[in-house]
Amino acid sequence: MSDELCRLSLTDLSRRLQAGEVSPMEVTEAFLSRIERLDGSLRAYLTVDARGAREQARAAQARLARGEGGPLTGIPLALKDILATRGLRTTCASQMLAAFVPPYDATVVARLREAGAVFLGKVNLDEFAMGSSTETSAFGPTHNPWQRDCTPGGSSGGSAAAVAADLCTASLGSDTGGSIRQPASHCGVVGLKPTYGRVSRFGLIAYASSLDQIGPLTKEVRDAALLLSAIAGHDPKDSTSLRAPVPDYPAALGREIAGLTVGVPREYLGEGVDPEVQEAVRRALATLEGLGARLAEVSLPHTEYAVAAYYLIATAEASSNLARYDGVKYGLRVAGKNLLETYLRTRTQGFGPEVRRRIMLGTYALSAGYYEAYYRKASQVRALIRRDFDAAFATCDVLAGPVAPTPAFRLGEKLADPLTMYLSDIFTIPVNLAGLPAISVPCGFSRAGLPIGLQILGPPLGDEVVLQTAYAFEQATDFHRHKPPL
Ligand code: GLN
Repeated sequence: MSDELCRLSLTDLSRRLQAGEVSPMEVTEAFLSRIERLDGSLRAYLTVDARGAREQARAAQARLARGEGGPLTGIPLALKDILATRGLRTTCASQMLAAFVPPYDATVVARLREAGAVFLGKVNLDEFAMGSSTETSAFGPTHNPWQRDCTPGGSSGGSAAAVAADLCTASLGSDTGGSIRQPASHCGVVGLKPTYGRVSRFGLIAYASSLDQIGPLTKEVRDAALLLSAIAGHDPKDSTSLRAPVPDYPAALGREIAGLTVGVPREYLGEGVDPEVQEAVRRALATLEGLGARLAEVSLPHTEYAVAAYYLIATAEASSNLARYDGVKYGLRVAGKNLLETYLRTRTQGFGPEVRRRIMLGTYALSAGYYEAYYRKASQVRALIRRDFDAAFATCDVLAGPVAPTPAFRLGEKLADPLTMYLSDIFTIPVNLAGLPAISVPCGFSRAGLPIGLQILGPPLGDEVVLQTAYAFEQATDFHRHKPPL
């Protein structure tokens, strides 16, 4: 019975809570005991906040009893450990912040708190969200619930694994180059990266500020729409957050997709894409066609330059953002004889090898004499990639293709070769460079039993049509109903 509560979608759980059929306390206890039983072998959580969760559940219960609750009141969530939580350790999966307790909440956390959500704890990620496998976490990798010897993807691997294994009802992640969509795809859950600026980044510990965006990972598309409605909107604390009014996202879901044009980028289904992924995606496209959508081949000719441009822009921004970890203001401090030695020791011991590699790469790309050749060039490529998308969206309502070129890979498989790891982001990165919304929705399984995701991309502020298309696809299929063998 209690495991059954953990399996419910946010939408279903919310209905039961509102109807008084279950109580927030009961639900929270069910999750805490399931985490206790199963997370030892998955390691999705870095911090379980049983005390805080029980307190929030009690408050939610009182609120529901007064008839004052909303759709998120009493819903148990997990937060990627890159989102600041007042009074609760926020590590970024780094030794640098291993003991950091923020004095404030990220705006998304504050909004969910106000809505009455229950925070079960903080979940694992690649250190400072730099990675695609959760293996760069200073606290060890998370395991894929479908196959323990595979990665859950990353960097929001803990968020995706926790949703897939029913260790929370839904979670939040962040996506700079694919970190919500790729782990969602590898774990068989829904992951939405909203339009850049749609959701406030205040309190999201910065990796690459012109690319970072927070979004939901959920069991079903409707859950993602509900969560997006709660976290979207302008925030005076984030100057890049958009002032555009927030639409009623769940309301977009019922709309038919008959008559919509779905663009299929030629570059997304070619060489280098695993045949099983191609097959699943092609079948998914046929399903969309069966629902009345019109398929149209389009071209995004600058796709092949996206990874190179991203790894210059993202590392350049990271080198600047991570300069603040100097052993003086907060975080780890390893004292040396003088200031320079303190910087050196703190940053050498506080950051893992992948983070150090990126700081060096980014510093190099920005340095005098190289700036024009690297950073400037990458920014120009970024403009071309945006133009590719503008042209495609002039004739298409959405685009669709794979999320990642392969299903989940084995732990350790790509660690020795950062370049192959970087290349696995080829279909997710262009979306961030252009600031677009995109979702990963389950669309099949490999013969080995690993989930495969379909990516649906929209124009800027087209989050609604992305959700609408994903929902129509989900309603026509049952991949989202499969559960990992635990
Ligand atoms: N895998 C990409 C990177 O390592 C994307 C990470 C992310 O989206 N945070 O930068």
